Amino acid sequence: MQRLQDRVAVITGAGSGIGLATAHRFAREGAKVVAVDLDEVTGAKVAEEVGGLYVKADVADENDVTRMYQAAFDTYGRIDIAFNNAGISPPEDVSILDTGIEAWRRVQEVNLTGVYLCCKHVIPYMRRQGKGSIINTASFVAVLGSATSQISYTASKGGVLAMSRELGVQFAREGIRVNALCPGPVDTPLLRELFAKDPERARRRLVHVPLGRFARAEEIAAAVAFLASDDASFITASEFLVDGGISGA
Ligand code: NAD
Repeated sequence: MQRLQDRVAVITGAGSGIGLATAHRFAREGAKVVAVDLDEVTGAKVAEEVGGLYVKADVADENDVTRMYQAAFDTYGRIDIAFNNAGISPPEDVSILDTGIEAWRRVQEVNLTGVYLCCKHVIPYMRRQGKGSIINTASFVAVLGSATSQISYTASKGGVLAMSRELGVQFAREGIRVNALCPGPVDTPLLRELFAKDPERARRRLVHVPLGRFARAEEIAAAVAFLASDDASFITASEFLVDGGISGA
């Protein structure tokens, strides 16, 4: 019997990076995966690779979010795990003084409103089952802040962390665990794109990682699988740091 045998897992941002690695990890551990992504090509590809279902959805759109959970339920009859992971980053470091309101809003819409909508609409399914595990992707910057001037990103992730803690407490007695995953820098397209524009920034970041390297997406996926499973049955409302030691340094 595998750890996630027959659990139904909805993963947002499943087409790339951390979401992609987690879709494969969940499938290897026996889960039925619903891969959600805005990008139809990568989303459909991962769904095919893991023998799951692809649903195109924008996590910032409430109709899309209700539709994706309905599709998951219609196909598999339950929802056990929600990995609310889709997120975006501003294309480069920018001071608050130069952060335009539209750029600010889009980051909040995807990173924070997206997680709010995903939690809001999955909890009723889990409540009926009396069990569920929600993992929201925040970031180490939610705990520590960031020297790199991405105020919209840092603020959105701080919101994800606070929301996860509160929901974890509120729904604990109903069997629903809610945790905030706080990765350090992970070698994914999101990070590669940022660092391609600013290699010096990559070097500065690396200096602050005691393990001396960025994480592989698979290392983050291993932590997500743990949080999703019954091995983490006493862990809720936590900030789960997988940061190569950054927060201890
Ligand atoms: P990524 O860019 O490789 O993948 C993100 C995926 O989300 C993409 O497939 C994209 O199409 C999808 N997506 C974007 N907006 C969407 C939307 N509105 N609706 C549905 N799907 C959408 O990024 P990643 O590095 O794997 O990041 C995943 C999460 O981890 C993000 O929340 C990110 O903020 C967070 N994170 C990343 C790092 C890192 O260093 N890479 C560190 C800490 C936290």
